[in-house]
Amino acid sequence: MSLVIIGSVAFDAIETPFGKTDKIVGGAGTFASLAASYLYNDVKLIGVVGGDFGEENLNILRSRKIDIEGVQVKENEKSFFWSGKYHNDMNSRDTLVTELNVLGSFDPIVPDSYQGSKYVLLANLSPDVQLKTLERLKTKPKLVVMDTMNFWMDVAMPDLKKVLKRVDVLTINDEEARQLSGEYALVRAAEKILAMGPKYLIIKKGEHGALLFGNGKIFSAPALPLADVFDPTGAGDTFAGGFIGHLANIGTVNFNNMKNAVIFGSALASFCVEKFGTERLQELNKRDISRRIARLATLSRFDISG
Ligand code: AMP
Repeated sequence: MSLVIIGSVAFDAIETPFGKTDKIVGGAGTFASLAASYLYNDVKLIGVVGGDFGEENLNILRSRKIDIEGVQVKENEKSFFWSGKYHNDMNSRDTLVTELNVLGSFDPIVPDSYQGSKYVLLANLSPDVQLKTLERLKTKPKLVVMDTMNFWMDVAMPDLKKVLKRVDVLTINDEEARQLSGEYALVRAAEKILAMGPKYLIIKKGEHGALLFGNGKIFSAPALPLADVFDPTGAGDTFAGGFIGHLANIGTVNFNNMKNAVIFGSALASFCVEKFGTERLQELNKRDISRRIARLATLSRFDISG
């Protein structure tokens, strides 16, 4: 009953109003698999890195017991590199650099030991590679979740729409939902996106929480109001990893469990932003996570009768 995650494994350079980093470990696959590893104990990653990535960085994944047999190392090439700068509100950012490097020619390998996995997260990377991965799975998974971003909408929309037809859940942020649908109102955007293929849609709204659409219903989850947000990078991927990690752990996919999975995704994402890069996601424990879940539950609970 493994959970397979495919996504970028990268170096990031980040600038926020609180500081600036040189190249640090990042990547959608990295954040998502670290997050999922706290909720499910059979996480398998597919990705590619260059020789510059180094064993010490691969050990960050190994130390969380993430299976990295599917992570290819191209010794003579460079890892994917992304650089971004956040605006003062920390909710919006500009991409300064996207160097695909190894990701440009990535041909995903699905190891035999990954076959038969029931849960699949297509984290952010080229839709063409997301599609190839799905085609290389010999049995149909129980649940396929896809994440993507504006970059791929700009350069690979036709392929992205093909992947959309094959997935159960899409997670994107509000800006991307507007770009994908051409609609400003998120409820209308959701209607249009659901008509493109996925049965469920999650729209992430940064510090304003997340909306889950599907089965003709809407669920709204808050984000935990935090005093210190240092670096939002990877929060979306962490959310996706927490979301599918919870569903894999529970083993039953329905709207109610998805609501809880959104809360788990939000809880994990709330840790991610507290330090730069993946740092915070390397040092959590189950108790930290349970406490956040409890805080999220009290945050929006109310009794109308009183
Ligand atoms: P998020 O903040 O959740 O949108 O994710 C940020 C992470 O996505 C960073 O760690 C980047 O390395 C990674 N990333 C940025 N651009 C891309 C891209 N075009 N394809 C795949 N991963 C990307």
